[in-house]
Parts: sequence; structure tokens; C-alpha cells
Amino acid sequence: MRTMRAAVLRDFSLGIHLEDLPIPEPKPNQVLVRILASGICHTDLHAVQGSWDKKPVLPLIPGHEGVGIIEALGSKVTGFKCDQKVLIPWVGRTCRACAFCSSGRENYCERQFNTGYVIPGTHAEYTTADFRHIIHVPENLDPVQAAPLACAGLTAFEIISQLQSKENQTLLVLGVGGVGHLAIQYARDFFSRIIAIDCSGHRISQAREFGAETYSPEEWNSLGTKPSVDAAAVFTADPKAVVDSIRAIRNGGTIALVGLGKHKELAMPWFELVTRGIRVVGSHVGPISTLKEVMLYHQLGKARVLSEAKPLSDIHMALTELSQGKNLSPRIVLVP
Ligand SMILES: [Zn+2]
Ligand SMILES: [Zn+2]
Repeated sequence: MRTMRAAVLRDFSLGIHLEDLPIPEPKPNQVLVRILASGICHTDLHAVQGSWDKKPVLPLIPGHEGVGIIEALGSKVTGFKCDQKVLIPWVGRTCRACAFCSSGRENYCERQFNTGYVIPGTHAEYTTADFRHIIHVPENLDPVQAAPLACAGLTAFEIISQLQSKENQTLLVLGVGGVGHLAIQYARDFFSRIIAIDCSGHRISQAREFGAETYSPEEWNSLGTKPSVDAAAVFTADPKAVVDSIRAIRNGGTIALVGLGKHKELAMPWFELVTRGIRVVGSHVGPISTLKEVMLYHQLGKARVLSEAKPLSDIHMALTELSQGKNLSPRIVLVP
């Protein structure tokens, strides 16, 4: 029996460990993928800690930003061949029958199976994936660059597409991490001014490099800002950032909540939201059609991922760095 190294979570109290497991067999609708790169998302942290009400299915191999090479095909797979490079995202399988699935919004399907949370993920040497939820990765894209597009890139692109403006408008970005640093780059096509706020000096300088006007939360608050932005995207999980965005947003503006942390509820100023006509929307990754657009965007070199590679065996250290905000690049990518 051929075996593979995989990062496995068997119990929340024991944390994640590397194990040798049998290489899975692809089911009829699946491909077997040899992983080349697997991005670490904050969701992995929440999976390992079991911090959300909806718990992951254990035992679990986390990871939902995978790039790899197809090594075997299930009997019903079409459109893919062995040796092709593919990207494996968070939405791993859906019902394919509901109104969301039928209208290209399968990321809101109520019967979705999420990669690295409900079904086995990509922090391993091999995984299987449903061919209807993976896409091709162009040859010119490095796997460490491409892997974070599966979640960080998709999430950022989807929300910027929703918030996009045709006039000269201002976007406020709260949190310049894995998703935020990509959102700033995508937003350059749609907003004339981008303001980014982050507590880390390092992240601030990365945001400035991509053309954003930048502030620390203290600097921003000391300005006593009057409502001056048309849209805000909240990528951090800090409830204070939402309060900051409400203070900054113009009447009729939209605040998009994207980041998820451990806080279960959010207090918002009811009177202000109503009387100023502020819209608050949530956004959860994006559909596969948007993922194809993101891939094309990067293939054309219009944006770049700030990622750093680490061996799969460093997963423990990488998760600790991420939980403490000590990762130098916004995205750490594991390489088996
Ligand atoms: Zn993610
Ligand atoms: Zn569905």
C-alpha cells in the first residue's frame, strides 16, 4: 500500500500531527492530486481550535488552498487529464440542485462540503477532489503564488466585485493580511482612492507599496475622521474595526464583513445604520466562476500574492506564527 504524509487533527485537545496514511482512491467524480503547495488560511486555525459553533468533521486533514498535479482520474471525470496542474478550493462539493447551485452562487449552497473542514483537505502529500469544483492552473503561475488564490484571492475578488464603483469613489480596507493585501490590488481597477488600516507596521508598508493610503488604527482615530468613504471591506476579526468603518462610511455606503474570528455577535449602532442608510453585508468566498476570473487576473500579472513557502512538517510553527500575527508574508504556503 502506498502511503502519504498528512497533517491530521484527531482531537481538539491534541492539536495537529503529521501521520502516514494510505493514499486515497478517487471516487467516480474525483481526481487524485499530488499536492505541490497548500496555503494556510485563518480558517485552519479555527478548525484546529474548534472555535466555531459549526465544528469540523474529525479526524480532519485541514487545508483548502491547494495546488497540485492530477495523478489519477475517477471513471466519471471529464475535462481534466493526468499531469495537469489544478487548484482545489474551500467549496469542495455542493448539492448541484438548489437555487444557489443553479444560479452560479454555489458558495451559499446549504448542502456544501468544505475542503479541509468537512472533507479531507490539502495539507498533505495527496488529496482527492471533485472535478466539478477544481480549476486549471496556468503553467506560468508558480504553485506557491497560485495556491492562496483558492480562498484569499477568491474572497477578495468576490467582495471587490460586489463593492466596485464606476465613479471616483473611496474604499476603506480594514486588515491587510492574506485577503486584504489582494483586495487592495484588485480594488485599484475600481476605486480612485484606497485607504488601508492595520496594526502592523509591516503590513502597512506592504499596503502602501500597492498604492493604498495607510494608517494604524490609532492614527486613523486621531484624525477624528468625518464620514468620507463610500465602501468598506472588513477583513479583520476585530469588532472595533466595524465600529471604525461605520464612523468612516458616507450615508448610503456599504460595509462588507468578510473576516471571521471567535466573536459570535457584533454590536452595531442601530439608529445610525437606519438613519444614514448604511448597508451591512456578509460575503463568504465566491463561486467557481469568480475563481476562474481571479486565476486569469494573476495569469496576466495584474496582481501578485505575497506568500512564503514552508515545509509541511512546519505546520505547527506556521499555525502558531499566524495565530500571533508574526508571519512576515500575508500568506504562508506549505510545501509537502
Ligand atoms: Zn480560507
Ligand atoms: Zn446546492
